[in-house]
Amino acid sequence: MPTINLAIVGVGKIVRDQHLPAVAGNADYRLVAAASRNGRVEGIDNFGSIEQMLSAVPSIQAVSLCMPPQYRHAAAVQALEAGKHVFLEKPPGATLSEVEDLAALAADRHVSLFASWHSRYAPAVEAAREFLSGTRIRAMRVAWKEDVRQWHPNQAWIWQPGGLGVFDPGINALSIVTRILPRPVFATAATLEFPENRDAPIAASITFTDAAGLDLSAEFDWRQTGRQSWDIVAQTEAGEMVLSEGGAKLSVDGRLLHAEPEQEYPMLYGRFAEIIRAGHSDVDLAPLRHVADAFMLGRRKVVEAFHD
Ligand code: NAP
Repeated sequence: MPTINLAIVGVGKIVRDQHLPAVAGNADYRLVAAASRNGRVEGIDNFGSIEQMLSAVPSIQAVSLCMPPQYRHAAAVQALEAGKHVFLEKPPGATLSEVEDLAALAADRHVSLFASWHSRYAPAVEAAREFLSGTRIRAMRVAWKEDVRQWHPNQAWIWQPGGLGVFDPGINALSIVTRILPRPVFATAATLEFPENRDAPIAASITFTDAAGLDLSAEFDWRQTGRQSWDIVAQTEAGEMVLSEGGAKLSVDGRLLHAEPEQEYPMLYGRFAEIIRAGHSDVDLAPLRHVADAFMLGRRKVVEAFHD
């Protein structure tokens, strides 16, 4: 198979931590250029904007967009209109409608659009899906509680409108839940806690149900110090299922069934190459739709100011 000439836009934390190593380890790709206002990738051509990059390097075939979600749609339109395949970091955009707009544009230009959800590729997620498909779920509790100061230092965008606040990690939990449950769910109530000096929530609690009356609730909180929790616990007829550490480990009734090394970004790039070669897109908006519903239904509670 010929390699895919890839470019990366928005060189920041996730590009350095995950995209560059995943691309370097995948023979399907050749990284040919990067565009970022300040960030740089050593050893390739770097540009200050996506416009400059696309006009200077016509051999680019695919572009990964890794800037904050509020700025992704404009860049994606430029890439799609230039006939490039596009990988969107999560969340795929700031609104549902803008991502639907991108999906329509990708179809019109016959290129692939990938709305990536890295947590769906956590090691034990497929095993959890299989376990749940063979039993009846009585209740499910999601706890995604982390220390924002540890994980998101100096990220102003995350607190701004469209940055999603605590839903930036919370949407990872929703991407797993929507993968492992056998039926679609919908939110029935939500409370969103906004620091008095911020435009995005620092905590959220949401209840959901499904057509069979599932009892599902999720707690997202950015004020967690000490032990961090990224856990999904389900009471089922086959026992208590615990999917912990962000989808890395699966146990049932305390017995560890699945724990393998994490390979989320290598798998995402594998999937992107697969859809490019098949001529498909992969755009599942369910996690983002649940976040939008929580904002629509959510009772707003103002809490104490947050200072970095
Ligand atoms: P980041 O480092 O704060 O931002 C990435 C880069 O985007 C920045 O270095 C900056 O590069 C560019 N950028 C920032 N503000 C911009 C603006 N106003 N207009 C255009 N470009 C701008 O964020 P990140 O942690 O890498 O996260 C980026 C995306 O990846 C988010 O959607 C996030 O949810 C997702 N993600 C992050 C993680 C993580 O662990 N951090 C994990 C998975 C997914 P320049 O200044 O050089 O332009």
